[in-house]
Amino acid sequence: MQTSQLFLNAAISLKSCKLVRACVVTALLLGSWSNIFAAPPFSGTIFLDPDILTASDPTAFKDIVSTGRGVRSMFDRRVNNFVTVNAYLFNASFDDGLQSEVQVNPEFGSTEAALVEARKYAIVIGRLPYALRKDVQTVWIHQGVQPFGGGNNNLLIHTGQADQYSQSGILEETLIHEASHTSLDAQHASSAGWLAAQKADPEFISTYARDNPAREDIAESFLTWLAVRYRSERISQSLSNAIVSTIPRRLEYFSQQALRMDPWVMPKPLGFKTLTVNAPSQTLQLTWYSLPGKVYSLGESADLVHWTSAVTAIPSQGYETTYPQSLTNTATKTKFFRVQEVPASGSSRAGS
Ligand SMILES: [Zn+2]
Repeated sequence: MQTSQLFLNAAISLKSCKLVRACVVTALLLGSWSNIFAAPPFSGTIFLDPDILTASDPTAFKDIVSTGRGVRSMFDRRVNNFVTVNAYLFNASFDDGLQSEVQVNPEFGSTEAALVEARKYAIVIGRLPYALRKDVQTVWIHQGVQPFGGGNNNLLIHTGQADQYSQSGILEETLIHEASHTSLDAQHASSAGWLAAQKADPEFISTYARDNPAREDIAESFLTWLAVRYRSERISQSLSNAIVSTIPRRLEYFSQQALRMDPWVMPKPLGFKTLTVNAPSQTLQLTWYSLPGKVYSLGESADLVHWTSAVTAIPSQGYETTYPQSLTNTATKTKFFRVQEVPASGSSRAGS
């Protein structure tokens, strides 16, 4: 059954965490991994380092409001099935415009008690990069010590398990893993680029990914990409080396996706960054601050009054976008450029 399969993303037991750490130390003593192990270097990646994302990191959480009670169908691992309950409902909003409905099991007893839980986890979810939150339409919260889940545009949380993850410092890392299922799997897990990277890399990053290549490889690998790309000062050199030498092509794949990363990377307001003239080729390289996933138009003018559209649909290249402009047909000595975000719907930003 497709629906329940999506919730089989059970995290691995903490026992294997200790094994992983032992493995890291062993490898350090013996030298390079890849020459020694013809196997994934780790058992599961949520245990690798509790400092990849911590409670001290910024959150995009904005506010949470009760929207009353409502009948919802929620997956509950304690019965390993969907349950239909009159849930406490909350709308969590984030300062980048994303929103999620948080559905809390009635077993928490009151709106106030449910709000405490809903707010607590919405704040943690707000620490995930935008690219991982973008498809999280709902969050399910139950009691119990059961593995989390991701997929189905949802995050599944059992608070007893969350307490244990918190004590180990890996609550955030676990939610990164689960939200990777929710917001990355559908687009990337079977894409040609990802499958080519899987094939080209020396090994899977973990035995969990190797044993479930279609279901777990994105989630297992993405956390390690975040670690080496954004948290290199927080993780050990040996851990970084192990990740980079094991899945270089997968890391490159994620880097090429121009993923939106706030609040890990805060976008700059739209505006030009640099303008470089290449005299021999009579071209101008215009670079502006952009947002991943957006589309831009470039206008030009001789007098800042009359504007013509030079290019109308330039896909964003990430947080910065560069576009060449020819100078050969310039009749005037002065030329102005204007960049605008092409609105998907509603508002637009402009900078010149
Ligand atoms: Zn998983």
